Amino acid sequence: MSPSSPSSALTPSAQAGSARVAAVVRHAVAAGLLGEANPVAGFIDTDGVRASVDALHEAFPGVPAVLHTFAAKASSLVPVLRLLARCGMGCEVASPGELRLALDAGFAPSKIVLDSPAKTRDEIRRALAVGVAINADNLDEVHRIASLRPSDAVSAIGLRVNPQVGGGSIGAMSTATATSKFGVALRDPGAREQVVKAFAAHPWLTRLHAHVGSQGCSLELIAAGIAETYALAEEINETLGRRQVTGLDIGGGLPVNFADDEVRPTFAAYAAALRAAVPGLFDGRYELVTEFGRSLLAKNGFIGALVEYTKDAGGRRIALTHAGAQTATRTVFMPDAWPLRVGAFDAEGRPKDGPVVVQDVAGPCCFAGDVVAHARELPELRAGDFVVLYDTGAYYFSTPWSYNSLPRPAVYGYGLAATSGREEPMVRFAPVRDAQSLDSVSAESGLAHADALLNLRD
Ligand SMILES: *Cc1c(COP(=O)(O)O)cnc(C)c1O
Repeated sequence: MSPSSPSSALTPSAQAGSARVAAVVRHAVAAGLLGEANPVAGFIDTDGVRASVDALHEAFPGVPAVLHTFAAKASSLVPVLRLLARCGMGCEVASPGELRLALDAGFAPSKIVLDSPAKTRDEIRRALAVGVAINADNLDEVHRIASLRPSDAVSAIGLRVNPQVGGGSIGAMSTATATSKFGVALRDPGAREQVVKAFAAHPWLTRLHAHVGSQGCSLELIAAGIAETYALAEEINETLGRRQVTGLDIGGGLPVNFADDEVRPTFAAYAAALRAAVPGLFDGRYELVTEFGRSLLAKNGFIGALVEYTKDAGGRRIALTHAGAQTATRTVFMPDAWPLRVGAFDAEGRPKDGPVVVQDVAGPCCFAGDVVAHARELPELRAGDFVVLYDTGAYYFSTPWSYNSLPRPAVYGYGLAATSGREEPMVRFAPVRDAQSLDSVSAESGLAHADALLNLRD
């Protein structure tokens, strides 16, 4: 907690994320949500989610028409999506499954944007029937939409462009490189002319979409991509002599600070960078759509996991925990690009202190690389302790990997309430996703077809 904030103030902005997490871990262990029977679980800070959404809305004051959507892939859990819908968000989806989740969560079709990179004809037909907005990835897809679109369709239709402004520090997260797979590569010879022609041919094509980068990209790079997209919209409208492009979907991709509790960069800094780079963007001539994922959820979630054993190998202390590649996939495979802070907690869920030991924090998967933190200095972990992986509210426990047939871990939401006269806040939990049962593991592994391979010989 920052020294200036009163101890009863439990709003996320007044109390550092890791202090809130400590209270929650203690209660989760006491309630048995974490322990021998439940050795790993994900947790979502509902107050934090609300505060992050508020910060996003407050960053665009007085902007006449802006729809902020949440990128469903960042936390594809129906209760999380419903909470976001209730907070006034729209939803960005990129597959039939995500569209289904968004509708089940209660988003109005007019607040849903479909961006899948490889839309089938059926997917397009369904999106048009439901009335969600669609961003075509390329000109062939525009032609496909043209052939499927009924004349009374209500879906807003846009075209994704790649302004080719360059990449950030993580190749796999950089969407605006010269050879990116996304959108129409604007700087390629003839591409701009073809885009203008497509808008001329299809008066229902009224939006441009660009999602420049993600983790590892600077605000300046993101703003430069949006400036290119804005300039293209102005060019199309000027060339056609009518205001056909009425909406700009400026994507998401604000990076997240994984090093400490500070939210950096903020949505306010993002909006300021846009104002500086594209002064006309907020003047109300274009409806704006944003698509944020990681920056809304990452710092509002954590993974808790039991330490099952500890050992020494070759002079290295290793903690064998239940959080590995099945729930922290990117960190395990790309540890330099996706380092996570790890917290050490005792068997009662209290933060450990005492002398630090250099330790590997390993997971339960049967491959040698299943390590979430290499040579990390932490208070000495022992069997029965717990570890916390901070800032894992987006793309971690919500996106599990079924390696080794490890079950999907349970996910809980929590809210903190001040109790009068006591330092200790009250923590309320609600289930978001049940831990996967062994029956479900077997069913998803083809149990219904158990005999299928026995009778293929004549
Ligand atoms: C993934 C994605 C987003 C959100 O990215 P974050 O880095 O999580 O903010 C937005 N738009 C599109 C098209 C995406 O694919």
